[in-house]
Amino acid sequence: MSVIMSVGTMAVVSTMALGVVTAGGAAVTAQRLSAAADAAALAAADSALGFAPGVPCDNAARIAAAHGAVLAECTVDETTVRVSVNDTFAGFPIAAAARAGAPAGSLGMNAAGWVRPSDGEITSPYGEREAQCDASGCASTMHEGVDFAAGCGAPIYAARSGTIASAGDAGGYGNQVRIDHGDGLVTGYAHIQNNGILVNSGDVVTSGQLIALEGDTGRAFGCHVHVTLEQNGALIDPMSVLG
Ligand SMILES: [Zn+2]
Repeated sequence: MSVIMSVGTMAVVSTMALGVVTAGGAAVTAQRLSAAADAAALAAADSALGFAPGVPCDNAARIAAAHGAVLAECTVDETTVRVSVNDTFAGFPIAAAARAGAPAGSLGMNAAGWVRPSDGEITSPYGEREAQCDASGCASTMHEGVDFAAGCGAPIYAARSGTIASAGDAGGYGNQVRIDHGDGLVTGYAHIQNNGILVNSGDVVTSGQLIALEGDTGRAFGCHVHVTLEQNGALIDPMSVLG
C-alpha cells in the first residue's frame, strides 16, 4: 500500500510493507539512491526547504520507533520524501509521517516566532468551563491551558524554539514535555501517547519541530494535547502568545 500526501511543497510517499514487497515498495526500491547519494540529496533538499540537515528522515524514524516500527528506507528526491516502514501497518500515523520535518514557516509562525503546536481544532480554550466528569470524578472548572485535538498519534510541535525542560510522566498530565523558551516562559504539552515523547530533557528544539505524538494519557477525556504556558511559574493563557 502506498499513500501520497502533499504538505506545502513537500510530497511524502509513505509505503507500508507487510512482509511482502508491494507495488509501492518496489517503486521505492527502484528509486533508491546509493547511501552517499542519499546523504547528498538529503542535504540539498533540507537546505532548499529550510530544514536542519537530515531532519525529515530523523523525524520519520522517531515516529516509526514510537509505534514499534522500523524505518526501512527514507530518501529525499528533491522535494519528495520517500518513507518505507517494516513490521507495522495500522499503527503508523501517515499524517505524522507527512509532517515529519515540515518547515516551521508552513505552520504560520507569527512575528515573535511562535507557531501553533497542533494541526487540530481548539476543543477547549483557557478559562472557566463546565465541569467534565466521568466515573472517577470531575476535572477542575478552571481550565489552565488550551486543548487541541487532531487525533490519536497526531504530531505535536514545539510552539517556539527553546530547551526541553522536562520530558516524562507528570501525573494527571500523563506524559508531558515542557520547553523553556527563556524570558521566564515555559510551554507544556500534556497527555502524550505512551512511547510518543520524541525528545529528551536538555535537547535544543526549534520552532515547529516535531516533539511528541498526541494521546490520552493521564487525566484526559479522549486524545488531545493540553498546551500550557507558564510565565515566571504562573499558568497564563497560551493564546496570549500563540494568537
Ligand atoms: Zn486541557
